[in-house]
Amino acid sequence: MKLSFFLPTKILMDDNCIKANAALLASFGKKALIVTGARSAKANGSQSDLEAALTANGQSWTMFDKVMSNPTIDCVYEGAALAKAEGADFVVAIGGGSPMDAAKAISLLACEDISRENLFAGGYKTRLPLVCIPTTAGTGSEVTQYSILMNDKAQTKTSLSSPVLFPDLALLDSRYMAGLSQTTMINTVIDAFSHSAEGYLSNRANAISDALALEAMGIIGSGFAALSSGTITEALRANLLYASTLGGMVIAHTGTTAVHSMGYSLTYFHNIDHGRANGLLLAEFLKLVEQVRPDRVAPIVMACGLGSVTELASVLDGLLGEKEPITPEEVIKFSGIAIKASNIANCVVIPTEADLQRIYRTSFGL
Ligand code: NAP
Ligand code: FE
Repeated sequence: MKLSFFLPTKILMDDNCIKANAALLASFGKKALIVTGARSAKANGSQSDLEAALTANGQSWTMFDKVMSNPTIDCVYEGAALAKAEGADFVVAIGGGSPMDAAKAISLLACEDISRENLFAGGYKTRLPLVCIPTTAGTGSEVTQYSILMNDKAQTKTSLSSPVLFPDLALLDSRYMAGLSQTTMINTVIDAFSHSAEGYLSNRANAISDALALEAMGIIGSGFAALSSGTITEALRANLLYASTLGGMVIAHTGTTAVHSMGYSLTYFHNIDHGRANGLLLAEFLKLVEQVRPDRVAPIVMACGLGSVTELASVLDGLLGEKEPITPEEVIKFSGIAIKASNIANCVVIPTEADLQRIYRTSFGL
């Protein structure tokens, strides 16, 4: 058996996780830059828990609460300038994938002078210490080496990817997700499901990533009915957060596939939430792969307690509701953009541009 697995991030999960592990925060320096979005961290208690822990440690902080969904290049340069101006020793991200991804780039740009032209070129060497506190059960960014930013030059979303970007510490407390809207909960959990399914279909998958993916899909599948009816218990919420972290560990090893590359155009041009964008495309992608590798698709369907890809498609359709319209011209344009993404080749069945066009068309009923 050939195996390779690397995860430098320390993961701690518990109710009151920040308070219980305040001593770990003390080791990162005197002053934090807190990177978050405009509202949710203030409303769900995570920001005040972090501030209380920093205060108890005698640490100070500066807020950067300007991270929008799908963060931009301007946003991360602004955050890095603030980190430098304020002399931040470390960065703490609170929120969904958007603040966590922004914080990764900020922690890097606060240490290295990288021009905007070279931002995605790789070769990164160092960053400020980085702590991630996820408050959605979706991206798994707290355990990945990716920072995904809107890239106007390429008219898509592009990843900074480097082992340097794995966070040092992930603190998981599912209580912060209690106020998530049903729509955001569904969209983000579908992202976690998509990571696990895409990772399972990756030609870089191995026994460890498969085990993590199946565990994550089992948990998420068991939650489909509650997600649909909006009856999510505290225990399920915690399980979904755990599953999304597993999904992050999966893609840290396998990368994502065409589903993510194709979804980026839906987000870039139609402002469709990231997880929803993947969910709109996933079933048709599974059908394509199933034609050649039914042995890899069947365990995905079984893991979530269903009998066929068609059944999974109707569960996803039910969760996602009415689809946004896209045009035949956009199908051509989006496929032309997606086919250039490196993760297209990350699958046991590598799709052609014509396959991508077919997936867009069938997914959107064109
Ligand atoms: P998000 O853009 O981080 O957050 C979506 C919305 O949810 C925001 O309005 C946010 O409000 C709100 N929110 C977050 N936590 C909340 C809570 N506990 N209660 C109530 N509202 C809450 O969404 P996301 O799906 O988690 O992240 C998407 C981003 O992650 C995309 O840019 C995607 O490309 C990226 N991503 C990264 C990876 C990776 O490995 N790095 C993997 C997959 C996706 P506030 O703005 O007020 O906080
Ligand atoms: Fe994703």
